[in-house]
Amino acid sequence: MSDKRFTTSTVHADRKLNPDSGAVHYPVVNSVLYGYEDPQDLVDVFQGKRSGHAYARQSTPTTDALQQMVNDMEQGVGCLTFASGMAAITTTFITLLKAGDHLIASQFLFGNTPSVLGTLRRFGVEVTQVDVTDAQNVKDAIQPNTVMVFLETIANPVTQIADLQGIGELCAERNLVYVVDNTMTPSYLFKAKDVGASLITSSLTKYVGGHGTVTAGAVIDTGLYDWTNYGNILDGFRKLDPSAQALTQIKKKGLRDFGACLSSDSAHMIAVGAETMALRIDRACSNALTLATYLQQHPKIANVYYPGLETHPQHDRANKYFKHSGAIISFDPIESIDPVALLTELELVISATHLGDNRTLALPVAQTIFWEMGLENRQKAGISENMIRMSVGIEDPEDLVKDFEQALVKF
Ligand SMILES: *Cc1c(COP(=O)(O)O)cnc(C)c1O
Repeated sequence: MSDKRFTTSTVHADRKLNPDSGAVHYPVVNSVLYGYEDPQDLVDVFQGKRSGHAYARQSTPTTDALQQMVNDMEQGVGCLTFASGMAAITTTFITLLKAGDHLIASQFLFGNTPSVLGTLRRFGVEVTQVDVTDAQNVKDAIQPNTVMVFLETIANPVTQIADLQGIGELCAERNLVYVVDNTMTPSYLFKAKDVGASLITSSLTKYVGGHGTVTAGAVIDTGLYDWTNYGNILDGFRKLDPSAQALTQIKKKGLRDFGACLSSDSAHMIAVGAETMALRIDRACSNALTLATYLQQHPKIANVYYPGLETHPQHDRANKYFKHSGAIISFDPIESIDPVALLTELELVISATHLGDNRTLALPVAQTIFWEMGLENRQKAGISENMIRMSVGIEDPEDLVKDFEQALVKF
């Protein structure tokens, strides 16, 4: 289907896998165990000599079908799915890093990822966090034991955009594994492979699933990194084709050890959601631009952070990399407005964490997702005490603007 465009390939992906039954959706196979008429076939599955399933902690036919769909979306050479985005990130780190390695990570990360970095440090991995809007900062942080760079495309909540291309070139030059968390700009908006990503991690919970009914994550190997150069591939996986070494190690070691596997039911829900990803994202991004433009001119709003605005420091970069500028907006009401009070007045916008839903969600950043980090760290991250983060949904734009109008007039 590679000659077809994004949504065409996605909505026809499952059907191609079911020539016998004609099922247009890939069936939800809920069996944990897989039996074989010929025991030699089971032996061959265990030894990797034939493809097939053994136990649902590592794969099911339904997770395979989703993996194929997500892999096609990102134009990778292989994909693994997990029970959540965090499971994908943590399993990838723990499988491919070891004590004594150095990881360079963005200093602007989704709130839960720094917790994983803390865990890595406790297990002896050195971690340096830098401002990834300039590749020079990554270059300056490289040490002899640096093996990997990890960042997000558009950071949350201040919407900084990483120097994706510059860091990709640097990683290629220095033979570093370049891991891009593409949750904020999934494949329809941006192909991380185009900037040289080695591995792409994604929370499918967000835009890919899109309906807020299931958590899932994925890691995709783009095929750009030559794993024969990577010191942490275990002997048992060295015999494999180089393009399969890392993902097989993540599957056979990471998924097995952690067991953070995706269920077939969840994989099916993600696949159904993925069919409309492009339509939903087009609408959400268009709504985001409308709302950002509205908020920016409003006298009761002090700052608006949205890459689609010309005033955004990386606006040109956003235009260069992304089909649209995403659907996350953060903004600071003027100082006299308490963010919680403003959210209370909104009737349509739901006060909730999460992003990438069909509904517009908002939360006071300092008081919720960045509360634990403390005032000093918030200030370092450029997060004001009255910042509101909004994940814009697919509602009718007029209704969203009207909701803000009626709320802001009360202050
Ligand atoms: C939500 C999110 C994650 C974690 O995904 P879960 O599915 O919630 O575990 C990772 N990275 C980014 C950028 C996210 O927004």
